[in-house]
Amino acid sequence: MSGALRLQGQGNGCGCVIGPVYLAAEPLSPHGGQASPSQEFESLDRAIAGSVAALEALMVATDQASADILEFQIEMLRDPVIGEMAAEQIGKGQNAAFAWVTALEEYIAGFEQSEDEDIRARAVDMIDIRDRVLRALEGAPADADGFPAGSIFVGRDMAPSLFLAHDWMQGGGIALEAGSTASHVALLARARGVPMAVGIGRFAVDAATLVLVDGDSGLVMVHPSDADIAALAKPALVIAEDAPALGPADATALSVGGVELLVNISGIADIRDRDPGTCDGIGLLRTEFLISSVADLANEEKQFQLYSEIVRWAAGRPVTIRLFDLGGDKPLGGFSAEERNPFLGLRGIRLLLSMPVMLKIQARALLRAGALGTIKVLLPMVTVASEVEETRRLFEEEAAGLAQRHVAISMPAIGMMVEVPAAAIMLETFERADFFSLGTNDLAHYLSATARDNPRVADLHRQAAPALLRLIAQAVAVAREMGKPIGICGDMAGQPECLALLIASGIRQISVAPSQLAAVKTALAQAGVDG
Ligand code: PEP
Ligand code: MG
Repeated sequence: MSGALRLQGQGNGCGCVIGPVYLAAEPLSPHGGQASPSQEFESLDRAIAGSVAALEALMVATDQASADILEFQIEMLRDPVIGEMAAEQIGKGQNAAFAWVTALEEYIAGFEQSEDEDIRARAVDMIDIRDRVLRALEGAPADADGFPAGSIFVGRDMAPSLFLAHDWMQGGGIALEAGSTASHVALLARARGVPMAVGIGRFAVDAATLVLVDGDSGLVMVHPSDADIAALAKPALVIAEDAPALGPADATALSVGGVELLVNISGIADIRDRDPGTCDGIGLLRTEFLISSVADLANEEKQFQLYSEIVRWAAGRPVTIRLFDLGGDKPLGGFSAEERNPFLGLRGIRLLLSMPVMLKIQARALLRAGALGTIKVLLPMVTVASEVEETRRLFEEEAAGLAQRHVAISMPAIGMMVEVPAAAIMLETFERADFFSLGTNDLAHYLSATARDNPRVADLHRQAAPALLRLIAQAVAVAREMGKPIGICGDMAGQPECLALLIASGIRQISVAPSQLAAVKTALAQAGVDG
């Protein structure tokens, strides 16, 4: 054995990588605080001033017709009435982005509904300035600049936004002192096939030191020797593997033995290079990872484009899009509510229903993207039936509003995550849900009172699996009686050792990370699943 320092943690099953260390600057602060009204005023003022300056710069080198449009937009940006309306919204507790969108909404609707064609045409100019200010409010994602492509991120934990902002096409990996294989950054890494080891404990290492991360065994080696590297004898050692080797089952594109196989994604980057024919569709799009700022939450157009791209990729296959699942372990800087226990607080659908302006924007983007393919909407963290009913009512209202404006839409099926034990036990009360998706990551967390990202209780978390399986079997039986589809999109679906039990529970729809698809197909084929 060489003199390399060896640290044992848990791996994410995504192969090996070797590279120079990038040391994370400082531990992450888990929650961004809510900005004060004065900070929100200041941000909005700065974004508007920046937008005016940008438009003035454009005016310098343009023709007369374009200059007229730009002049109108600048005038609107400086309109004190709009400014006062936005200020009033901030005074009511809105952040700058939502205050701005809310203030402009009435104006835009007024232009769109005008009898005068010239005035109607101005609506587009207003939408343009609405989105320009939102872009100015976006701000930069977490420090992605200092983290060179191809290096190994070493730190206590890693923010999902940093993972998403990084270029993983050139390889690289992650070694975390803390963390868990069920954390969100671990889910993202698995989806992209980025090797990762978590829970390796504290250790001292200098930046740029050569480190090997074995995502299969969870082993991290500092200063590995040539012999260490050779001993692992893994293919594609330097470049992260995109997926496990394809088994024979992968050649057949679709369902194995009547089991539908879908993929969990966090954005188009997870699937862009994949043939959509290798799965039955998208089982879970985690939309909270598509956005990097509060301004994105208020940006209907941007969301519409992001959803449309994925719907086009799916080429007619269903695309299940989950509403923003914010709060708890998925805070968005400067947005999440300040709570003593955010895991039991205003999160998921609760947060969305408490901020209808945000939910309406996402609903409109989804209704519009639904016209391009088959979208199914999934509600996160549902506890009681009224949450589904209220959300459905809101979708119907927004659909009616868009139809009145002759915008092409399609009303999606509305289903719910089954991840809160109270909902799983009372599934028969959710008649207004069109379908169910078992979120075993959170369901296990709440059922066993063990945090999904705490390695100190990871064993207990695992030992509670029989309780989880019993609850799953009960929920599947109830869903069948109700005549409603039920699938699983939690991590458990990607664990080959759990597949036979899930199938025995009656599960016939499975959604896993794209990098796990081949292994799951092979495991199902080997298990001789006959549906
Ligand atoms: C789950 O909780 O099982 C799930 C699929 O959702 P997330 O991991 O995004 O919380
Ligand atoms: Mg969940």
